[in-house]
Amino acid sequence: MDMQTSFLDRLFESGLLIDTGVDGLYGRSGQFEDVISGFERLIGQYGGADGAEAMRFPPGMNRALFEKSGYMKSFPQLAGTVHSFCGSELDHMSLLQCIDAGEEWTKGQEATDIVLTPAACYPLYPTVAKRGPLPNAGALFDLQSYCFRHEPSKDPARQQLFRMREYVCMGTEDHVTAFRQLWMDRGVEMMSKLGLDVVIDVANDPFFGRAGKMMVNNQRDQNLKFELLIPVTSSAKPTACMSFNYHQDSFGQKWGLALEDGSVAHTACVGFGLERIALALFAHHGLEVETWPIAVREALWA
Ligand code: AMP
Ligand code: ZN
Repeated sequence: MDMQTSFLDRLFESGLLIDTGVDGLYGRSGQFEDVISGFERLIGQYGGADGAEAMRFPPGMNRALFEKSGYMKSFPQLAGTVHSFCGSELDHMSLLQCIDAGEEWTKGQEATDIVLTPAACYPLYPTVAKRGPLPNAGALFDLQSYCFRHEPSKDPARQQLFRMREYVCMGTEDHVTAFRQLWMDRGVEMMSKLGLDVVIDVANDPFFGRAGKMMVNNQRDQNLKFELLIPVTSSAKPTACMSFNYHQDSFGQKWGLALEDGSVAHTACVGFGLERIALALFAHHGLEVETWPIAVREALWA
């Protein structure tokens, strides 16, 4: 049994994660949630005084805006769409017959106006664009959402529905790149308080297909994405628990985000993978929270 499967089994046995029969779709125990809320409080201790505007979106977003975002161009393999039954009584009868016969019944399902949110910041850009120009001094937002990515796996750190906490900064290039650097420094400090070993490395998103290879190279060459990596199931291949993304002015252009002086806004976002951070803590300090070092428990809950 590999390390990922054995860690997953231990998490199920301890009750911290709850098996649903689908890889990457898990329930979480109260204890697991306490770790996440403790960590979110720690985030607040670092970022709370920055004056970010908090917004919370549900885990589904407007399909038309998702189409405009270009997600299907870059990551079609990860997207999740919400489909519903929109047929007649006759269609309903044949649907039920299919289910009874154990046959495929979802073919007639029709796309709704909702798709599953792929990253917490996706619903934000069109929302902010609708408000009109941003102050020249920039703007800062605080988001948290369940996100969906179709990447079933036995690795407990690779889930299909997981939570991402994000800060998103909009403004000039200097402003948003300084924001990104500030959170890289804060991220390292936060994890060291939690007794976790980290490295920060340049990274890329999993762009699809042959055209995607060029996107990967471009993203890496320009240092547009960094990740903070922590060992979860392997020290040789640590897991990305935070990411630090600079989008240049690409989202500004796409969504029409402008500053009051008429220039196109640059944007950057910093994402915390909340389940991954909790799992890193359980992997490193053990499955019994009571046995964790006092300093770690104080950092989360004092
Ligand atoms: P990304 O937009 O891919 O940079 O994701 C932001 C953060 O979400 C990552 O740094 C991870 O910590 C977390 N994350 C991404 N994909 C998953 C996943 N499949 N399961 C759990 N956490 C994830
Ligand atoms: Zn983001």
